[in-house]
Amino acid sequence: VSDESGPNSEEIQIVIHPSDLPVYRVLMMGASGVGKTALTRQFMTSEYKGTYIESPTPEIDMVEPELNVNVLLDEQESTLHFLDEEQYPDILKEELSIDAYVVVFSVSDTSSYNYAVKTIRTLREVQKTHKAIILVGNKIDLARQRRVARHDALRIAKKFDCRYIETSAALNHHVDELLVGILSQIRERVSGATHS
Ligand code: GDP
Repeated sequence: VSDESGPNSEEIQIVIHPSDLPVYRVLMMGASGVGKTALTRQFMTSEYKGTYIESPTPEIDMVEPELNVNVLLDEQESTLHFLDEEQYPDILKEELSIDAYVVVFSVSDTSSYNYAVKTIRTLREVQKTHKAIILVGNKIDLARQRRVARHDALRIAKKFDCRYIETSAALNHHVDELLVGILSQIRERVSGATHS
């Protein structure tokens, strides 16, 4: 640990989370343009979040665009570590040891929904994961352009043992619920599973 306090030391504020907090890794999945980045940005402003760990070096951020949010739920704090699937090649993805998959589509875009269903099917039937999967119908502010019915998404979520949440990253609607939903799904699985 460097003790040096150079001219930049006051500009950069890095908050390091206590090492005893459980850290869960959450992979954001879904077609391009559905709002994965917008949702992840909103998580950083959530009222549930504790600290925000940000790389002080923009170059590192571009290579490793990972974001941590500390979430307080049931008086227990955990760190959610977000990764965007678009940043990782398939080979690397298998090495990521993910605790939860957030599969996003836009309710105004049927092809993004079909892509999300395909993704969930692959996770459950090909990769045979029993980890938490949260299906997210984003952009519900675009009510008049809606193309995907809530009951269709709910039916798919039920079929594949997922949670379904509708959000608007643009209006910050149900984004906190999503954040808390992710953590509660992870905790349920961790307490119910005997995985190593
Ligand atoms: P990504 O490719 O999945 O990361 O998608 P982005 O987060 O970059 O969003 C793609 C576009 O959709 C951007 O222009 C966002 O401003 C817009 N967008 C994201 N979320 C919403 C939303 O909830 N409602 C609306 N109307 N637009 C959104």
